[in-house]
Amino acid sequence: MRRFLLLYATQQGQAKAIAEEISEKAVAYGFSADLHCISESHKYDLKTETAPLVVVVSTTGNGDLPDTARKFVKAIQDKTLPGDFFAHLWYGLLGLGDSEYTYFCNGGKIIDKRLQELGAQRFYDTGHADDCVGLELVVEPWINGLWAALAKHFLLSGGKEEMNGTLTMASNASRRTDPVTQELLHIESQVGLLSLDDSRRKDGEVLEQNAVNRGRSKTLIADFEPSLTRSIPPLSQASLNIPALPPEYLQVHLEESFGQEESQAPVTSVDPIFHVPISKAVQLTMNDAIKTTLLIELDISKTDFSYQPGDAFNVICPNSDSEVQRLLQRLQLTDRREHCVVLNTKADTKKKEHLPKLQPRPYSCASSSLFHPGKLHFIFNIVEFWSDTTAVALRKGVCTGWLATLVGSVLQPNTRASRADGDKALAPEISISPRTTNFFHLPNDPSVPIIMVGPGTGIAPFIGFLQHREKLQEHHPDGHFGATWLFFGCRHKDRDYLFREELRHFLKCGILTHLKVSFSRDAPVGEEEAPAKYVQDSIQRHSKQVARVLLQENGRVYVCGDAKNMAKDVNDVLVEIISKEVGVEKLEAMKTLATLKEEKRYLQDIW
Ligand code: NAP
Repeated sequence: MRRFLLLYATQQGQAKAIAEEISEKAVAYGFSADLHCISESHKYDLKTETAPLVVVVSTTGNGDLPDTARKFVKAIQDKTLPGDFFAHLWYGLLGLGDSEYTYFCNGGKIIDKRLQELGAQRFYDTGHADDCVGLELVVEPWINGLWAALAKHFLLSGGKEEMNGTLTMASNASRRTDPVTQELLHIESQVGLLSLDDSRRKDGEVLEQNAVNRGRSKTLIADFEPSLTRSIPPLSQASLNIPALPPEYLQVHLEESFGQEESQAPVTSVDPIFHVPISKAVQLTMNDAIKTTLLIELDISKTDFSYQPGDAFNVICPNSDSEVQRLLQRLQLTDRREHCVVLNTKADTKKKEHLPKLQPRPYSCASSSLFHPGKLHFIFNIVEFWSDTTAVALRKGVCTGWLATLVGSVLQPNTRASRADGDKALAPEISISPRTTNFFHLPNDPSVPIIMVGPGTGIAPFIGFLQHREKLQEHHPDGHFGATWLFFGCRHKDRDYLFREELRHFLKCGILTHLKVSFSRDAPVGEEEAPAKYVQDSIQRHSKQVARVLLQENGRVYVCGDAKNMAKDVNDVLVEIISKEVGVEKLEAMKTLATLKEEKRYLQDIW
């Protein structure tokens, strides 16, 4: 078996699932994958690796590396490494991302770029899979093409023995239907890359030929592999066909479950899972608000679950019961609801379905455990969208819809009384797991001034920050506490101004020194100057103070919320402010902001 090293850098389990699929498939093509999470650096050594490397890298946030890749990237970004550090290494990389976010596939791009800088060479074109249109559009052809690229690599880089072996395999090909062999024969017949005579060459000649072939293989592979990075002439010039239905490739068996308990939603993380009761649920928005925001309080007092303001955690949710019911009805399987479904791919198919696992949903903690001991708050909008696949229907997000139904009967309106701590379990338990960040926290030194930017539900971590600060200030009345700015934005002052009372309270007692709220859909009152519409407009209006906090007072800026538009616009306005206030070109201002990011003084928790 020809071994290759297979590393995955995963955040939510997607890259891991794809790497596992590659590993499983490899066997059928005569390869053996040495599969590891990229964080398990003690299990592999790229410095001495002689086998080809295959890497699957996901992207998180607005273009960040998955947490599991941070250590690896830090190590390879060591500036003292020479330019030929990885000159011996051949690799193929598959990046995963979402083109709706600013920095598409950035996790993969960072690693790809650095491997190149350190002299590593690609044996296979990099793939960039886009979750926005469906990862499988790139993942499947990329995996399908990988086997020929690997085979080619082994063929061209192996010694004489290996080459003889491969050629023997090729010459036996008429008796085999191995797809790799077929690919090889196909390539050879097309380009006459190697003839059987090659195997009779002397070692020196073979090595020399290998060097030439390496160069040629790059072009060949590039021509040969299907690639979605190259485009054909405009679609208008292409004749469009409806693709044929794929042949059946799944085997489905129903097995009686003999009273076994229904299994929990699959979890990809290895983090501990806590089952905690919901102790309170409050609707934070008015009924006429465009989005409905709920706050849920969890009772974590009987568990070891702990968190800091700024952390996030995962909620593990099941599929919607009514949707499962509807599906069973359509499949006429209602009477076999309790059966287990066993899925297998047919033996004679190459296809393997990417049935994505139901992912745990991350939420920001919206409380401080100093302020609410034994409790954990989080907030979310009930996601609703119109679906017209069968009949037009208003459907809810998987997790938020489930949570909203779960707390429906105990939901309290947003009144002062409802803000008191709940003390008894009102609704069923839910399952959560930790997802700590190591960066989005208050500064250790409370005298450092901070600017918080969080429109909509992006305000969540900052409520935790402010509650924490209130308790700190109570415990240290003579301490020096830096200025706290909050830029919050919502649509209507009277409908979705989240935590309005709490923010007023923080402002009144000096925990919050500056509160700037923008209302995006309220008409200006009377003759007043057009008010700021969005948080970035508000920031713009306070450009001098913002620049002073960041550039003179060693302060920090935290941004939480929507990654697609808001975070990008806030970033742009910060560049503008630095450029204007310092009197430098935009490029220089961008560099300053990048430095702030590196120094963890410009922090984002966005998705
Ligand atoms: P939202 O829909 O983003 O709306 C909040 C306010 O932001 C509205 O007034 C909206 O105005 C305004 N807005 C729209 N485009 C904007 C832009 N380009 N720049 C600045 N403001 C803009 O609020 P939400 O529904 O609460 O959603 C917040 C987003 O943050 C969600 O995507 C959620 O998943 C994410 N989130 C992330 C975290 C996290 O990363 N930790 C935590 C919580 C929430 P108009 O609609 O009037 O244009």
